Amino acid sequence: MRFYESPRFKPPLSEQECTNELATILETSPKVARLLQGIFTLNPRALRRGITCRPCHGTEQASRMGYYDGRYQRIVLCCDNIRTKQQLEETLIHELVHAFDATRTGSFTSMCHLIACGEIRASTIGQCHDIKSESRKRTCIWDDAVRSTAVHCGGTDFAKIFVQQVFENCMKDTAPFIQPTAPSSNQQ
Ligand SMILES: [Zn+2]
Repeated sequence: MRFYESPRFKPPLSEQECTNELATILETSPKVARLLQGIFTLNPRALRRGITCRPCHGTEQASRMGYYDGRYQRIVLCCDNIRTKQQLEETLIHELVHAFDATRTGSFTSMCHLIACGEIRASTIGQCHDIKSESRKRTCIWDDAVRSTAVHCGGTDFAKIFVQQVFENCMKDTAPFIQPTAPSSNQQ
């Protein structure tokens, strides 16, 4: 899930504006296309209920910009918490990473490590991706991962431990995008 950030001066998108922008993003964003391809390769039914824009005010998800609903296999984008096309695209990418991860099986010590890793990956590939400064980028990923993991894993103090334990490895795991290549050893 992605939490709502502090309000700016721009008004939120209407459901119709959100749906229109979403259609453009689905047609033009290479990152979104790659994630969808990865998801459909692993599990063609993972998003069978699709991706929809709708207001989340008054629901349990009121504080979120979007979420992946694994039970109903859909992504919901909370248009009333999204103000720009960029926020919409970043949120969609974040949630697509969750949908992608839901189709994979990993080996983790606990469910909370798995959740922490998913949040780290979603923020690394999603809304924190284009931050130039390495330290600000790490802070962006860290804060988001702790905040989202805390919801499911007993609060902030526990979340920090889980995030810490998987942080470096999960930041490097950029599937389905190409991994940064490790220096190859000379085999002759
Ligand atoms: Zn998330």
